[in-house]
Amino acid sequence: MFDISNIRKDFPILSQQVNGKPLVYFDNGATSQKPQVVIDAISKYYEVINANIHRGVHTLSQIATDAYESSREKIRAHINASHAHEVIFTSGTTGAINLVASGFSEFLKAGDEILVSALEHHSNIVPWQLLCAKTGAVLKVIPMDENGELILAEYDKLLASGKVKMVAVNHISNALGTVNPIAEMINKAHEVGAAILIDGAQAVPHMQPDVQALDCDFYAFSAHKMCGPTGVGILYGKENWLQKLPPYQGGGEMIKEVTFEGSTWADLPHKFEAGTPNIADGIALGTAIDYMHDIGFENIQKQEMELLAYATEKLSGIEGLRIFGPKERKTSVISFNIDGIHPYDIGTILDKMGVAVRTGHHCAQPVMSFFCIPGTVRASFSFYNTKEEIDILVAGIEKAKRMLS
Ligand code: PMP
Repeated sequence: MFDISNIRKDFPILSQQVNGKPLVYFDNGATSQKPQVVIDAISKYYEVINANIHRGVHTLSQIATDAYESSREKIRAHINASHAHEVIFTSGTTGAINLVASGFSEFLKAGDEILVSALEHHSNIVPWQLLCAKTGAVLKVIPMDENGELILAEYDKLLASGKVKMVAVNHISNALGTVNPIAEMINKAHEVGAAILIDGAQAVPHMQPDVQALDCDFYAFSAHKMCGPTGVGILYGKENWLQKLPPYQGGGEMIKEVTFEGSTWADLPHKFEAGTPNIADGIALGTAIDYMHDIGFENIQKQEMELLAYATEKLSGIEGLRIFGPKERKTSVISFNIDGIHPYDIGTILDKMGVAVRTGHHCAQPVMSFFCIPGTVRASFSFYNTKEEIDILVAGIEKAKRMLS
């Protein structure tokens, strides 16, 4: 049973006041809040388990190693990877994409092409630009239309060059909420022999990706957007790709043998996990995944889609308010502007009323340039939000309009 008042009690932060008003947290696209079980998993690790993993014979080290590796197994099961060693712990989505982009130089020559989409977060643009600068490869962009949806006919044309070696595209856009047709895009990339990386940062809070069904080569995401802690994320990679890619960083843990003449690499996943990892937060990501499964992804989606429909209807009734992005095939994100008012000013007034929204370019400047705007106000909803909170947002926007127009 999905009982919203009980669910809200799981998140201690939600009961606090901000600027003297009850917190209305609509910045879930930036980071989600954390349930008590996740906070407890982190404290428990430091209270009773803390030890370095993988190298100790002593009991605590073994308990810590088991907890960390069992979290990896939970993540494997969650995304339906074939093997736990295809699940690499990283510092986040950004870390995961940089790992792939850095090693991918081995497979490129000058003139090869890398495709990103017009909807990407800077994290899925800049690493590929760095790679192009290093290799002489060329970055090309899959364009979008006025609805904020990718134009697949243009994607086909770009793939037809025969030079594309990598496609990097997000599953869901953080700026507009667009759900991209990634299954189709993955098939098309493979038809021309290109690899494809999916940036799943905005998808994992809302759905359970099945990497085998999708058949993507890489899938990257961050724990902190899905009820988990900051500073940890996941790179899923198909085994054959992870075998071929060179190590990203050198150090302890990632080697088999080191001599001054040369070194050999540890087996997967350790080849990509140099140094002491973020053990506590890696374990807590497993707890976050358990928590989301206890709520149920069907329940999560149902609640979020109801909130999206309700908020879309209410906000559409506000004169001068323009929502950017598609009407369908989108997640629980509303990116909007109000005629003649800067998004930052709306965000500041909402903040005074305890309402947390994001304003600005959302690390997707090309999306803003496409619409010729400096930024938007973005309200992003999670399953623990309520319609009453949306009413407060709407009242806040009306007030901001009265004050600023
Ligand atoms: N890609 C997308 C689509 C995102 O929304 C984000 C986070 N805003 C990132 C990548 C980067 O994630 P992180 O900062 O956790 O590495």
